[in-house]
Amino acid sequence: MRSVDVKVQTEKCTGCRHCFDVCPVNVFVMHIRTEFPDVIDDAEVAAKFQFRAEKSVAEHGPDCILCNACLTECEGSCITIWDDEGKTYQSVYK
Ligand code: SF4
Ligand code: SF4
Repeated sequence: MRSVDVKVQTEKCTGCRHCFDVCPVNVFVMHIRTEFPDVIDDAEVAAKFQFRAEKSVAEHGPDCILCNACLTECEGSCITIWDDEGKTYQSVYK
């Protein structure tokens, strides 16, 4: 059985909404951030981007059709996708 899944590494998510905007099957849902990641472990991300009041959660990961749209749009480079063969794809912001 096909089983694709998507995860967002919350502490790196800047809340840019790019994933939410580009995903054709609405995998991502934006949530109000209850705590800000005041200690960002990725200094490059922390220095480059402003963290916003929302964060993305991949609530509908199994619906992903592997279109790759989110993988180049993610400011925090914090999206990981697993395909049905267990291969992983990591977002890299371009
Ligand atoms: S790769 Fe998957 S999660 Fe990302 S935009 Fe495409 S369908 Fe949505
Ligand atoms: S594109 Fe990346 S950084 Fe932007 S909201 Fe989505 S998961 Fe967060």
